[in-house]
Amino acid sequence: MYSDLAGKVAIVTGASQGIGRGIALRFGQEQMKVVINYHTDTSEAEQLAEEVKAAGGEAIAIQADVSKEAEVKELIMKTVQIFGGLDVLVNNAGIQTTCSSHELSLEDWHKVMDVNLTGAFVGCREALKYMLEHQIKGSIINMSSVHQKIPKPFHAHYASSKGGLKLLTESLALEYAPYGIRVNTIAPGAIATPMNEHILSDPRQKEDVLSLIPMNSIGEPKQIASAAAWLASEEANYVTGVTLFVDGGMTLYPFYLKG
Ligand code: NAD
Repeated sequence: MYSDLAGKVAIVTGASQGIGRGIALRFGQEQMKVVINYHTDTSEAEQLAEEVKAAGGEAIAIQADVSKEAEVKELIMKTVQIFGGLDVLVNNAGIQTTCSSHELSLEDWHKVMDVNLTGAFVGCREALKYMLEHQIKGSIINMSSVHQKIPKPFHAHYASSKGGLKLLTESLALEYAPYGIRVNTIAPGAIATPMNEHILSDPRQKEDVLSLIPMNSIGEPKQIASAAAWLASEEANYVTGVTLFVDGGMTLYPFYLKG
């Protein structure tokens, strides 16, 4: 627990399930004021808001499609109206589709980019504007992936969006460090969430994934939430522009374990 987080205002995008849900719950335990952004799952988001309150925080669910500039602006505006400020933004919302790259339509390319990269950029831009105007030394966390580093065939659009997020984070971290605003990336490995349920529920495919993870276990949203809480807190107040890999060693070339 990080005592400085109590009472701070955080937005978590795409928070109605998976990793975002885990982060919202952890922020609730930290007694933060949490905006649970969701795209379509109103009842899940409202139910989560109740759970965040039960955990000790304050919470509200706000609908917004992060791929729409106007909706992201409104999300930030409503947050400030309701909770009186903004200290932490977690750009977590993300989508992934599978397609051979030579057959990938521009429409499908844009769909992934618009949510994963452009949505995060607009969120960063609006949060930075607010934080600068109000001299808030805030923390922005972008949810990337091990695929900002590991190439991902059949997911060129997804990997490109995450690679872009890495340099977006680093560029913003450098630009706003003089103002005390920190911008970091978390890069999860294989985490058990609805995004990859279809793979992890198949024992053979799950074995294939486990063979890529030196720590030999699938991650959980709460492990990503621990990293998010630390990066949001004052304990990380000298940390900016980093990618924190939370992946059980997946990015460490596990092949070489075989000797
Ligand atoms: P998930 O599919 O369970 O959750 C993604 C969330 O994003 C959902 O709540 C969804 O509604 C929301 N979302 C999608 N489009 C949106 C939009 N236009 N506007 C607002 N919200 C939208 O997936 P997850 O595994 O929890 O993934 C969360 C983040 O972590 C993503 O950015 C993903 O790329 C990243 N990630 C996940 C893993 C993993 O193994 N699960 C690994 C690496 C990175």
